[in-house]
Amino acid sequence: MKVHLTTLGCPKNQVDSELMLGMLARAGVEVAATPGEADCLVVNTCAFIDRAREESVNTILELAQRKERGHSRSLIVTGCLSQRYGRELLAELPEVDAILGTGELERIVELVAQVRGRKDWVEGAPPGYLYDAATPRLLTSRAPYAYVKIAEGCDMGCAFCAIPQFRGQHRSRPLRDIVAEVDGLAARGIQEAILVSQDTLAYGKDLPGNGDIGDLLLALSDTAVPWIRPMYLHPAHVNDRLLAKWQRARVLPYLDMPIQHGDDEILRRMRRGVTACRMKEIFEAFRAAVPGVTLRTTVLVGFPGESEAHFQNLLDFIEDVRFDRLGVFTYSLEDGTPAATMADQVPPEVMAERARIVQDAQDRIVWERQKSLYGTVQTVLVDGPSEDPAFPWEGRMAGQAPEIDGVVYLCDRSLTPGRFARVRIVEVEGYELVGESAD
Ligand code: SF4
Repeated sequence: MKVHLTTLGCPKNQVDSELMLGMLARAGVEVAATPGEADCLVVNTCAFIDRAREESVNTILELAQRKERGHSRSLIVTGCLSQRYGRELLAELPEVDAILGTGELERIVELVAQVRGRKDWVEGAPPGYLYDAATPRLLTSRAPYAYVKIAEGCDMGCAFCAIPQFRGQHRSRPLRDIVAEVDGLAARGIQEAILVSQDTLAYGKDLPGNGDIGDLLLALSDTAVPWIRPMYLHPAHVNDRLLAKWQRARVLPYLDMPIQHGDDEILRRMRRGVTACRMKEIFEAFRAAVPGVTLRTTVLVGFPGESEAHFQNLLDFIEDVRFDRLGVFTYSLEDGTPAATMADQVPPEVMAERARIVQDAQDRIVWERQKSLYGTVQTVLVDGPSEDPAFPWEGRMAGQAPEIDGVVYLCDRSLTPGRFARVRIVEVEGYELVGESAD
């Protein structure tokens, strides 16, 4: 029996896919490199926003056609879309043989074994699954980094977000278990552990006596993984205690903190639990405490009721803080969230225009700053072969998280993937950087 798994969505989903593949491999199931070679097709879906759902459904339909034409005998849909809309998927897509939500990942082994089961296990499985260091995991990327899910779920209740509906309440893994996993990853040659969850700074709050996120970062500083990168940091959890522990820990000088907006009224309506002024203080404090820190954020435009004046406040915020990296999303109406029933939904064309304005403002800020990298010598983690055929390798500086922040294209063939290298930046073009060996 051979299985092929397609992963959509965020790094948290990628971790789930790697765990399912690990469980299948332990059960003796072979992993196929392409869908064409597989007896069973699995797609791990995303349901984050409208675009993600669309991509998930299109992928299911593509794989369903492949199943009809090819030799695959079953199609299994897992992940957030099936957790959220499992019943509808089974009713509307007869090509789908089984559905598995996010609550019982280990049942993938049974589902694959019973080809053509057509069972719905979503109903009996509320979100609650959390893996541990002993769970088998097949790392799917050949790159030297791995995502480590330190917690699952979220209790924050942001008005636009449906994630808690299908990922459940916040729950953390024990600190020692995470340290054991990271030690195990180091033994497998991983050089960068990227800590992910829905609400990373809430880590440990649900486990009395476990320690908080600051304690986890300090504990991970003693592992053999050189780069530790926590991501998805909600500003409402920041306090002086955290900052003090962060400074003592061996963490990359990189702060991924979504602001979502820069206007106090919109922030209040979003239920973010933080003001624009407080967020500015936080960014200033991190810049003062962590020299050379790279600031990344995400913003959401077009939240219900967002006027021109609110939007201008967001633009002013972005111009004031001058983030190094910024992702902009347009608001997506999510069933069952408080924002879905709010008045004054913003028309899609206005949202799209606002997103373009934010992106243009950010491009100007970053392109100016990128120029100062020209001629500097940087430490780069060589990820592997370059996607651009003009260069043998590509890698990343500490200020570049995988998949979202771009890469440094590397000219020198003699560099070794999975190792660190000192490179001189010899070309800067917009977001693109080219480096030559500096040793
Ligand atoms: S912090 Fe807010 S946006 Fe993030 S997962 Fe929780 S509810 Fe959603």
